[in-house]
Order: sequence, then structure tokens, then C-alpha cells
Amino acid sequence: MPTYEYRCEACKEEFTIIMTFAERESSKVTCPKCQSDKVVQLISSFIAKTARKS
Ligand SMILES: [Zn+2]
Repeated sequence: MPTYEYRCEACKEEFTIIMTFAERESSKVTCPKCQSDKVVQLISSFIAKTARKS
């Protein structure tokens, strides 16, 4: 199952969410600490790792 890393712009908390693509589409991501919806998705380490593969 894919994981998504987010950072909360309100309290700077970084958190990881595990959810399916469908869940990501249908539900709004909020900060687990302050419940703010001002969250930004971080670049996945999985993608970074894949890109470095030579
Ligand atoms: Zn927060």
C-alpha cells in the first residue's frame, strides 16, 4: 500500500499517511496534530530512490 508524506504548514509537523489511491481522492488530508488542512505533500523517498537507479 502506498504511503504519502506530508508536512503541515500550520505547525510544521511532518507525518506519513498510508492510504489507497481511492482514499486519497475521496478524503481530505489533515494534520494529525492540529487538524489543519494546510498540508503539503513531500516528495516521496520511493520516487527519489527509483530515480537514482542506474
Ligand atoms: Zn499541524
